[in-house]
Amino acid sequence: AAEEGFDLDEVNEGLDEAGHGPLPVLAVVGRPNVGKSTLVNRIIGRREAVVEDRPGVTRDRVSYEAHWSGRRFKLVDTGGWEQDVLGIDASVAAQAEFAIEAADAVVFVVDATVGATDTDEAVVKLLRRAGKPVVLCANKVDGPSSEADATALWSLGLGEPHPVSALHGRGTGDMLDAVLEALPEAPAQTFGATVGGPRRVALVGRPNVGKSSLLNQVAGEERVVVDATAGTTRDPVDEMIELGGKTWKFVDTAGIRRRVHLTEGADFYASLRTAAALEKAEVAVVLIDASESLAEQDTRIISMAVEAGRAVVIAYNKWDLLDEERRYYLEREIEKDLVQVKWAPRVNVSARTGRHMDKLVPAIENALAGWETRVPTGRLNAFLGELVAANPHPIRGGKQPRILFGTQAGTRPPRFVLFASGFLEAGYRRFVERRLREEFGFEGTPIQISVRVRE
Ligand code: GDP
Ligand code: GDP
Repeated sequence: AAEEGFDLDEVNEGLDEAGHGPLPVLAVVGRPNVGKSTLVNRIIGRREAVVEDRPGVTRDRVSYEAHWSGRRFKLVDTGGWEQDVLGIDASVAAQAEFAIEAADAVVFVVDATVGATDTDEAVVKLLRRAGKPVVLCANKVDGPSSEADATALWSLGLGEPHPVSALHGRGTGDMLDAVLEALPEAPAQTFGATVGGPRRVALVGRPNVGKSSLLNQVAGEERVVVDATAGTTRDPVDEMIELGGKTWKFVDTAGIRRRVHLTEGADFYASLRTAAALEKAEVAVVLIDASESLAEQDTRIISMAVEAGRAVVIAYNKWDLLDEERRYYLEREIEKDLVQVKWAPRVNVSARTGRHMDKLVPAIENALAGWETRVPTGRLNAFLGELVAANPHPIRGGKQPRILFGTQAGTRPPRFVLFASGFLEAGYRRFVERRLREEFGFEGTPIQISVRVRE
């Protein structure tokens, strides 16, 4: 099955059925041949390992509903990534990254008879950095004589290795008990569950564009709470601001209010602050001084927000200073220098007069909605099928690469994985992105597309 893939969307769709509520997701990762599929089949029972047909695509299922001790969960088998032409190390790493992204807990399978390899160690690093619960499965411990092989895997630093024989069933019950302990009752935010607390906004922009003025304008006297958790009471890091009837968390406002008068390295510290604020935020409001020519630093900050994968709103400030002529040149500058973020909602504001402050919240909300959009796999593939039929990739060296299948691997921001029969040129990828936006919206959000080539 060359097109088999790791379909988080299918996981997601399954969850909404029958009012059971979303199920927590368990991913099984590990190198090829360590016994992942054997383990998955052991857990779900072979009878459920059906092959599913989708329009135009036949592939093996990769996610199953499973239960143990009266609890239900989704089991995701990442085995489909193995034939990736990226090579084994890279594909195992990609597998682990996906699992980390998607799963609420991970079973990491190691072949105890082989011991920990460099690839295993690399996966451990990824898993540890992500902080998701991990259960270490020391597989192929078929009898008591190989228990020592499992013990050796303490060296991975993932806690107790659970000796298992996926083939014969030995030890799987004990391991599943440990899994249930690690697995939360409900899935995490990655699956679109309601996000707790106020939405996090980063207000960014180069010095003097009007960030602190805007902050004062929106906070006014209405600043209700000061969030002192991350800083001290006197130097709050974030501020809760009431806007449009909702509370928003403006992150890292201390960095805005504390005017650092450094000549040397000021740009560097400003970039650090921007990067840190973006890291904590869901949506970036990039402030630009509309009265001046767009600076390279403006476009750099926009790129930082896009690269950080945040929803983006662009606010052109100091609108009160604009005359007809400047307005004309501004539009030309935007067309020339900001084409790559044409999808970002735009507001023309004045922090001084308060002009169009009421447009800020709807723009932020639209951007967040785009950021969280999920396209069901069926719709996506119907769309891709039509796109490929109407606009095939140009023939290169006698071959014509085709998109075989696609899935949306995640949201916040939307991430797509396309499986293709050959390398897709940058121009064609951009075309696909453009068409995706035309079809599904995605206002205010970057979208990420990765292509996996199948021979
Ligand atoms: P995957 O590539 O990680 O999915 O590995 P598979 O599940 O396809 O297993 C790879 C090989 O290891 C197969 O030949 C399995 O029969 C074998 N295998 C899997 N689990 C065990 C086990 O617990 N004991 C033994 N002896 N062999 C196993
Ligand atoms: P920051 O460095 O981005 O925080 O920028 P400030 O908020 O300190 O603003 C820099 C300067 O621009 C100050 O002199 C502000 O009074 C002025 N300013 C900010 N917003 C506006 C605006 O909308 N219109 C006008 N005319 N001036 C503004």
